[in-house]
Amino acid sequence: MSARILDGSALAAEVRAEVARNVAAHRAAHGPIRLCAILAGSDQAGQLYARSQRKQCENVGIAYELIELPHDISEARLRDEIDRLNAAPDVTGIMLHLPLPPGIEPAAAQYRIDPYKDVEGVNPANIGLLFYGQPIIAPCTALAVNELLLRSGAALTGAHAVVVGQGRIVGKPITMFLLENQATVTACHAATRDLCSHTREADILVVAVGRPRTITARHVKAGAVVVDVGINSVVERDAGGSDVRRTVGDVDFTEVAPLASAITPVPGGVGPMTVAMLLRNTVEAARKQLHRRL
Ligand code: NAP
Repeated sequence: MSARILDGSALAAEVRAEVARNVAAHRAAHGPIRLCAILAGSDQAGQLYARSQRKQCENVGIAYELIELPHDISEARLRDEIDRLNAAPDVTGIMLHLPLPPGIEPAAAQYRIDPYKDVEGVNPANIGLLFYGQPIIAPCTALAVNELLLRSGAALTGAHAVVVGQGRIVGKPITMFLLENQATVTACHAATRDLCSHTREADILVVAVGRPRTITARHVKAGAVVVDVGINSVVERDAGGSDVRRTVGDVDFTEVAPLASAITPVPGGVGPMTVAMLLRNTVEAARKQLHRRL
């Protein structure tokens, strides 16, 4: 058997086309949509990411503003900036580029963002409402995994899903989405005994651990659908003896792909879908702000 590749880049292009249509419809009826991204303590990687984000937003018709704050900004001053954006009627969405400068607790800053403008879906109100199956805006990566599974036609109802990694923003929300889709879910984490005995039972295996190639052939049942959320940068020796930097997932793709029925690659799987979900969440934020319930 050789797995079908779940092409996150192609599915993300579908989502972006839908988002562009929805942005145009929203603009015609209610005015423009605007995303403000805060970059505190700008570095080259942050600048690069922000540039790519601006392009992605503008391609679907979302106005993008990058707010650059100094590296020595205080937590109080950052809070003031978030409050200003929360109160601004022409700001649809707010996101925070991480990492923040040392000494500023990311969660505290993220929790300050109005849940209706929290396009990353990381405010406790949004995470909490997932438990009721009614988030205002859900976390982007969990949405990305959900969309990938649904759009690729994976049968979730009654399936046994195993989620390895129960991080607050990624693994746990994915577990909740799978439950919403009526899968029977096993939640694994660092203290799970005999991980293999759980993962080998999975019809759907989602891995969000942050450790390169943790899941190998021995962890996977033949025919499983495997979704690899991990993004790890590793340095490896190539055939010519030179060290090269590569991005790899939490799943050993070479070992697992021959066994699985479908698998996401890294890069090109969950990553591009997560970016597309941020765009979709921004439109969702605009729509939900018209009928606030909190
Ligand atoms: P996190 O908050 O640090 O959570 C990691 C989870 O993995 C924890 O639940 C931890 O268990 C568990 N874990 C660690 N070692 C394990 C092991 N050997 N066996 C089983 N479970 C283990 O990390 P995160 O923010 O969720 O991120 C996870 C991965 O997703 C990272 O590679 C990150 O780069 C990636 N990511 C990708 C995207 C994307 O768009 N593709 C977006 C966000 C994050 P405990 O709870 O017991 O400590």
